[in-house]
Amino acid sequence: MADCIFCKIASGETKARIICEDDDTVAFLDLNPQAPTHVLIIPRRHIDRLSDASEGDAALLGKLQLTAARIARDLSVEKAFRLVTNNGKGAGQSVDHLHYHLLAGRKMLWPPG
Ligand code: AMP
Repeated sequence: MADCIFCKIASGETKARIICEDDDTVAFLDLNPQAPTHVLIIPRRHIDRLSDASEGDAALLGKLQLTAARIARDLSVEKAFRLVTNNGKGAGQSVDHLHYHLLAGRKMLWPPG
């Protein structure tokens, strides 16, 4: 997607503080962190949001979650982290490219705001 900021990060056109990447996924630090650890994990391929994913994306979705869990271990926050995706404007989604927020390093509230 030509005007998608996360596609540009995935392609290297826009700089980001990348934590790790592979053929299918990219993980980078959030520009406006909401916790001491705040990493975004995205698929390289553009999918607007989770509700647009299909059966054929099952392996990719699994890989995104496993990547998040591995990053949590690498950053030593595996005992307490939150993994969340905002699906749609009403849920707080501001970038229309599927992403998971990995948040850790502070007390997490429930219910979330
Ligand atoms: P959401 O509101 O769930 O769509 O999350 C989008 C997230 O992307 C926000 O937490 C932003 O701070 C973050 N963000 C937007 N642009 C960038 C960027 N260029 N690099 C890193 N994070 C970004």
